Amino acid sequence: MTSLAQNYQKLNNRIQAACNEAGRPVESVQLLAVSKHQPLTKISALAELGARAFGENYLQEALAKQSDPSAGEEWTWHFIGAIQSNKTRAIAKHFDWVQTLASEKVARRLSEQRPDGRTPLNVLIQVNVDDEQSKSGVSLSQVAPLAAIISSLPNLRLRGLMAIPAPMQGEGEALRAAYTVLHDQYEALRQAGYALDTLSMGMSNDLEIAIECGATLIRVGTALFGPRESSSL
Ligand SMILES: *Cc1c(COP(=O)(O)O)cnc(C)c1O
Repeated sequence: MTSLAQNYQKLNNRIQAACNEAGRPVESVQLLAVSKHQPLTKISALAELGARAFGENYLQEALAKQSDPSAGEEWTWHFIGAIQSNKTRAIAKHFDWVQTLASEKVARRLSEQRPDGRTPLNVLIQVNVDDEQSKSGVSLSQVAPLAAIISSLPNLRLRGLMAIPAPMQGEGEALRAAYTVLHDQYEALRQAGYALDTLSMGMSNDLEIAIECGATLIRVGTALFGPRESSSL
């Protein structure tokens, strides 16, 4: 077995164990393979093992991979990096999901720039759950107003929320608290009538806590692919 296949199996075992512990069906947690700074050969190998959804942070790197003939037509691509306004047109064209939506301006641009004839772009609102000024994402109080705006835009489909908590020390209590805040906000929007199905939280090191707190999508890079390479392709 290759190390990639071993990593994939280990990861699936971790997801299964976390779901068992949380009393959740394993199908309730989707895997996004975070492929930034990983070569296409590894992405293809992982696709052969069954992965279908890939997350990229850097537009140029992602476009190069997507346009390679060995990239699968059926793969779905999630943009999970910081969004600069001058990149929205390419993101709207080349991605199936955007997980890092955090402003009305970017939302309006993505909707306007989604090419005709495509299904609406799936989006998640990125929420700053730690009150750290340096972190991207909207504050909790801005989530509902932004959700209302997104819902009014024809070419976006609001699917849920995502967060990237700051690395936290200790027993995981601070992380659990941050993920619980995000889950509560997600449930509040559902109560308010939004048809959401995606709560994106949890990475290589904390996916068990995220699953315990209700994550429906985990974003895993290094636990699958190993360390990232410095060059992008
Ligand atoms: C890089 C990245 C990940 C993956 O992190 P790992 O620790 O390698 O699993 C997940 N989410 C986002 C937004 C990232 O930028």
